[in-house]
Amino acid sequence: MSNSSNTPKTSTPKAITSKTDTPKTALSEFSLIERYFKQSSTRHTHTVLGIGDDCAVSDLPSGSELVSCMDTLIIGRHFLPDTSPHAIAYKSVAVNLSDLSAMGATPYAILLGLSLPSADECWLSQFGRGIHDICREFNIELIGGDTTKSELLTISITALGTVPKGRAITRSGAKIGDTIYLGGDVGLASVALGQCRQGIDCDKSAMNYPKPQVALGQALRGIAHSMIDVSDGLAQDLGHILSQSGVGAKLYLDTLPKHPTLTPLSQQQRWQHQLNGGDDYALVFTAPKTAVLPISDTPIIAIGEIVATQGLQLFYQNSPIDLPTQGWQHF
Ligand code: ADP
Ligand code: MG
Repeated sequence: MSNSSNTPKTSTPKAITSKTDTPKTALSEFSLIERYFKQSSTRHTHTVLGIGDDCAVSDLPSGSELVSCMDTLIIGRHFLPDTSPHAIAYKSVAVNLSDLSAMGATPYAILLGLSLPSADECWLSQFGRGIHDICREFNIELIGGDTTKSELLTISITALGTVPKGRAITRSGAKIGDTIYLGGDVGLASVALGQCRQGIDCDKSAMNYPKPQVALGQALRGIAHSMIDVSDGLAQDLGHILSQSGVGAKLYLDTLPKHPTLTPLSQQQRWQHQLNGGDDYALVFTAPKTAVLPISDTPIIAIGEIVATQGLQLFYQNSPIDLPTQGWQHF
């Protein structure tokens, strides 16, 4: 929807300019889409009709349910202004694939809502490559979107996936006695962000190229009772499982992974990043103690257990410990 509803459709190409600008030299919306998004799109077997018509059409396997989500990234808020267009594109898709993974879904397509200040061809070409690279990596297709001019660079991705009927893994299924598992690492993106903000040269890959746990999420169908991805901090996101399942948890800090990046930090700083730092996109799930976990490239570790007492209790060396657990707040 790039025009307001009372603007009649004409055959004049719409340029990436505001309606009051004269769009003489600007790259038209249609050639932009054709050049940077349509050409680079990987075909998916579910796609009947991709970019180019009013809507895309998908043919879903019988017995499957559609799983959909949307995440919006805004410059200066969800990524630093000097982030490369390739990384911005990659991360925008990755965070959505992470949400699909947390439901145990198999992703197949994305839609891209792109609002940008100008149609800079160099920027668009790198951004398009970022979209293309992650689509290829996870076998998904860019099947549509919308392109508009806006002063604030904003990327809004809708991701689509499927699960066999009734098999989506929700936040509300945790049961007392379940073991809590962490698939992936936590705290690394938060450490990188802190270092960037202080002007320290550091490895930004955790922050700019998060790895959604797509294979692990699907492998946990029929095994995990509940699951969530860690976007806003381990404590806060595990808290969503607890409140939606009506249970509590004991979390053992000794068990949290000790990535070399965290070694120079004091224990308090490390816990602060691991419990409250967002943007790592690990999976947290609960499963019965006796469950056989899938073989996974992603390290999976047991970090706690689900208990009847409401709330999150932290333990270190078997003693309760009180730490601030405040994750990312959007407002
Ligand atoms: P309409 O005016 O009917 O909404 P548009 O002119 O906005 O259609 O878009 C034309 C086609 O290009 C559609 O298939 C749409 O999904 C696709 N499209 C527009 N912007 C993007 C984008 N940023 N990424 C991918 N596809 C896009
Ligand atoms: Mg449109």
